[in-house]
Order: sequence, then C-alpha cells, then structure tokens
Amino acid sequence: MEIKRAEYMGFCGGVRMAITMAETELEKKRQLSVLGSLVHNPRLIEDMEKRGLQTLSSLNEVDCGQEVMIRAHGTGPSTYEALLAKNAIVLDATCPSVKKIFELAKDYSEKGFTILILGEKNHPEVEAIKEWSAGKGIIIEDLEDLKSLDSELDVVVLSQSTLAEEVFETFIFEIRRIFSSCVVLNTICSATKVRQEAAVHVAKQVDLMLVVGSRQSANTRHLYDLCSAINYNTHLVSGATDIEADWFEKVNVVGITAGASVPDWIIKEVECNVLEKELKINEGETVTSPEIEEQKTTEVEVKVDEVVEEVVETQEVPATEQEEFDMESFHLPRYTPGDIIKATVVQVGNDEILVDVGQKSEGVIPRKEFSADSSILPTDVLNVGDEITVMVIRNEDQEGRLTFSKKRAEQRQHWIQFTESLNQNEVIEGKVLELVKGGLIVDIGVRAFMPASLAERRFTSDLKHLVGETVRVRLIEVDSEKRRAIVNRKMVLEEESVASRDAFWQNTHEGDVVKGVVRRLTKFGAFVDLGGIDGLLHISDLDYYRVKDPSEVVKVDQELELKVLKLDAEAGRISLGLKQMKMEPWEAFAQDFANGDIVHGTVVRITPWGAFVNVRPGIDGLIHISELDNRRVEKVEDVVAVGQEIEAKILEIDLTRKRLSLSLRAMLGEDSYDQDAVDQMIEEVQESEF
Ligand code: SF4
Repeated sequence: MEIKRAEYMGFCGGVRMAITMAETELEKKRQLSVLGSLVHNPRLIEDMEKRGLQTLSSLNEVDCGQEVMIRAHGTGPSTYEALLAKNAIVLDATCPSVKKIFELAKDYSEKGFTILILGEKNHPEVEAIKEWSAGKGIIIEDLEDLKSLDSELDVVVLSQSTLAEEVFETFIFEIRRIFSSCVVLNTICSATKVRQEAAVHVAKQVDLMLVVGSRQSANTRHLYDLCSAINYNTHLVSGATDIEADWFEKVNVVGITAGASVPDWIIKEVECNVLEKELKINEGETVTSPEIEEQKTTEVEVKVDEVVEEVVETQEVPATEQEEFDMESFHLPRYTPGDIIKATVVQVGNDEILVDVGQKSEGVIPRKEFSADSSILPTDVLNVGDEITVMVIRNEDQEGRLTFSKKRAEQRQHWIQFTESLNQNEVIEGKVLELVKGGLIVDIGVRAFMPASLAERRFTSDLKHLVGETVRVRLIEVDSEKRRAIVNRKMVLEEESVASRDAFWQNTHEGDVVKGVVRRLTKFGAFVDLGGIDGLLHISDLDYYRVKDPSEVVKVDQELELKVLKLDAEAGRISLGLKQMKMEPWEAFAQDFANGDIVHGTVVRITPWGAFVNVRPGIDGLIHISELDNRRVEKVEDVVAVGQEIEAKILEIDLTRKRLSLSLRAMLGEDSYDQDAVDQMIEEVQESEF
C-alpha cells in the first residue's frame, strides 16, 4: 500500500511558535497557565497538561501577578486590560499573522469603516477580531448575515485566517454586489492556503484520504470539507485509534493530510497504523507461499520502523523553511485589485487624472480607464475636488502610485444594479445598437442581448426598425461573472398594453379625439392601434366621398387623429371616424367660396346638357351647355373635354340641395343673355342629373 503525504500539513508557523514557547516554559518551570485552549488539539493539550500545562477557562481564574500565556488565536483588548489590572505577567503567543488582522481591524474601525469579519461566530480568533473592531465589527458566517446590512456603509472585509478560499470568494462576490464602497483584505493565512491546496492535490490521486486533526479545529474541518468534496472516501481522524480496518479494502493508495494544530508525532502514529492495517489485511489473505508471506510481513515491518525513526528525527528537527512563520503573507497591500473605493480628484488632464484615496495614497486613472465612452474628455466633466468611485486595478508602482479605473467601477456598479433590477423586476431603458444573429444588442450600460422573439409583441421577422431606437426592457437573466445580460421588451410592451387598455376604457368617451397608428387594412376599413387597444375605422367613416378601398385614404403605420364614434366596453369594440375630424365638404366649400368666385376644377363627365366639374373631393359642379360660351354651343364636347382642367365662375352654391352651378361664359365678360331662362334650364338639368 502506498502512502501519499500532502506536501504541507501539520503545524503551521503560528501554532509551532506557540507550542515552542509553551514547551520552553514547561521545561523551565514545569508549569504554565494558558488562557483558553492553547491550540485546537485535545490530544496535544492533554499530553502537555500531563507535563504541567494548566488551561484557564476565564479571567476570573487568573491570580494577581500570575504568569499567563495568550494562545495562538489571540484575544481582544479587554483581556489585555484585565490582565494588566491584575498585574499578570503576559506571555503572548498570539500568532503574528493573527495580530496583523487585529491591527487592520483596529486601524480601519478608527477610520470609520464597518468591519465585515468572514468566519465562524464562536471562533476565538473571530471574536477577538470583532473586539479589536471597537464596536464596528460584524461577523458574517453565512450569506444571510449580509441581508440586513445597509448597502451605503463603507466596509472593509477581513477574514478568519483559516477560512477556505472558496468560501471567501463566495462572500466577496456577494459583498461586492451589495456595497458600492468596499475594501477587501484577504487575510486568509498563506499557511492555510498551501495546506488546503496540497490536501486537494493528494485527495485527487488516492483511493482513501485521511485528514488528521480535531473537529474543534476550523482549519481541519475546512481540509476535511475540501478533500471529501473531491474524494468521497475521506475520513477525519484525531489519531490512529479512529482508523477502521474495513476502510482499506481494495485500497492501494492512501493520502494523508493534517490540520495546523496537529503535531508530527500524531501524523506519524497515523501512518504507522495505516501500514499495520496493510499487514493485517495481508495476513487475512490466502497465502499459498510461506516465503512470500514472510517477505510481505518483513517489508511492512521495515516501513513501520522507517516511519518510527522519522518520528524521532522530525520531533528534533526545527521547522523547515516553508513551515517557518510566513510574515510575507501579511505584507498586505492597502488595497486589493478589484476593490471599489471613493477617490477625490486632485488634478484633471486629458491623458490621466490624479486622485487622492486617503491614507496618504495617490493614484492615477489613465485616460482609457476613464469612461466606456471614449469621446468624453475628462476635462469636460471633472473638476478638482470632485468625489468619484474607482476600482483598484494595480497596486503601487515604483513611484508608489496606485492605478485606478473609473470605467470598470461604473461597469461593476452596472452589474450590481442589473442584479438588483432583475430581483426587483424593474423596467430599464436601453438603446438598440445592432442586429445580430437571433436578436438585437441593446446598450443598457453594457451590451445586453434581446432575443428576436422577445423584441415585439407580435412576431416580426424584420427588426431593423428598432436599431437606433431607445426601448424599455426588463432584465430576465444577469450573469455578472460571465458578463451576460438578456433583456425582454415583449413583456414590457404587453404590460404597457394592458395598462393603457385599462386606462382607455376608464378615460375615453364617445366624441373624444384619440391618436392611433394604422396597423392593418381590410376591405371594410382599417384597424388602428390606440396604444395597446385596437379600434376600427370603417370604410364609410374614412371620408365624405365614396371610398372604394381604405388604402385610398390611409396606409399602414400612418399616425392619425380620430374621433371616437362608439364604445362598446362589453364587446370590447371601438368605432372610430376619420371623416368626422374635418368639416363636411359642402359646408367647407361654402365657407371658402361665395357666388361670383372663380373656382378651379377638372371636367369629370360630359352630358348632352352640360359638363360636370370636380372642384373638391366629393363636390362636382355643373356648367350648363348654355354657360359654356357666349355663342350657341351645339355639343358640350366642342368646348370642354373630360380631364380638362378649367376655371369657372360660381353662379350658385345650394347647400340644402348640395348643388353647385358654374359658368365659363360668365368668365368671358359682359354679354347679354336671359339669365332667368338659363337658370330655368340649369334647374331642369340638375333635377334630372342629381
Ligand atoms: S494558520 Fe496562519 S494565522 Fe493561524 S495560527 Fe497558523 S500561521 Fe497563524
């Protein structure tokens, strides 16, 4: 059976330091009091307690002047004050990495930031970070804890040193979505990270994975969670006695990792036990050759001896270079790329903008990071002293300057807003940029896709008419990680249609004038969209003269003002009139002309007794044959022809009988004729004609 050990496992630098301090004290004085459990490993503590370690569960157990050790997880300021008050001698074994987190919590809380502490609520390190945050710390154990927080807060994010990286990333994604101003400081200890990566690496390659450590230890639990997510045959064991023989059936390769508070001797004990299990399994097999069996037994025993020797050596060997406490991991940048922060403009140029972000830090926004719209000049829109929101894109350069992006901060903000907009089902506006395969691209701050089927209320194969238009849409899918947004206009149009239909029936009465757009023509009229509701414009109501086909008067997409002739709410019918929007033609004619005026017209029909002249749509006048010329006219065709445009004098407008008498002869000047006789003849002709 092969054993694969994780490259990094067991004591981290901080725990090793605390244990070494404690062991030294125990060797010197044979007694040592520690406030709280020195590390989270009951077996190790039990072993040390046999050698004089005393674990105090509260400050009340501390006597005046007593020597007390602070454990690796550290403690809050009130404990130091209480120990000082008791004149206690403090041996501080707080891990320097943890102390650094305390300092960050203190610094940022003093600057007015709210400290979001990612970690387990009852973990001593997390409780201590909260205490160092001086009333401004909030522990975030799960995403629910974020819901009640004010999104306007200026927050700094710190994490428990042993938090799993994946958990941290999940929190950060949500925090960045909620808070427009947040500084993220990844305070997960590098010892934790390398142990987690090494454990996952081994778990992928083995048949059985053993995670050695205590369930009380957060980092051991995280190692177990990570390994069991990859290898279902993972077991958490506190030591060799937890190992069960039947786990090893059909197992060829065993992986081992251990939490940060597990001493080497427990790890070696586990390894020995694994090899002994192999020996027992081999003993249980049917062995045909005593020589082979003896050889196997000898091989395993030799391996066990090797391991035992290693234990002795390892206990005496100082920590390897990698295991030394890694202060580098806490040379934290003040800002992490991706942080969104407020900045004050100190100098505006069109190539770059200088900003002040406080903490004696200045930075630069290169022109290309200023705005998504490259045509906007910084000098046109920014003034010194303006406060803007920026994203950190690069840490300090050789000149100590940070590099920021205003453009990316805005885009991040957009994605946050989109997610909110999606959650709240908001309607937003965007400009249609272009047609693409399957739909349209709409600019809503970022490029969103609108499927063709969701662009109009009714299916339309050609959507070109929407390009360049500003449309109202609703987000139906937002994936900020993939930077994908899908919008739906049809849904908005349908809702607006329902709303305007309701408003129409409530507010519209017969006789009202309404606006509409011709949507469809039929033989009997036109259907007009009144904004979500259709009305019928019947062919007989298109105009006062006889219309043979609606297309003579209106066309599709034409905007019209129409009179509401009849409303039938129950049947949902609306009758509209176009001709009712203008004056009756005879009345209009009589308003515009008087007897004796000259009128222009076209000869439309010739009869033996005269010519009919159309002077306006729906109004034909008669020039009696006797009114065609001064001389006697034998045939009407001798003077006028159908289609000829002429000017004639109005002899009479008869509104009651809707008759118009015209004369060409009267245009010829003074001449004598028997007007009464002519009138008589016109009368007779018109009687028979009309
Ligand atoms: S895991 Fe890191 S922070 Fe925690 S005690 Fe160990 S070295 Fe210190």
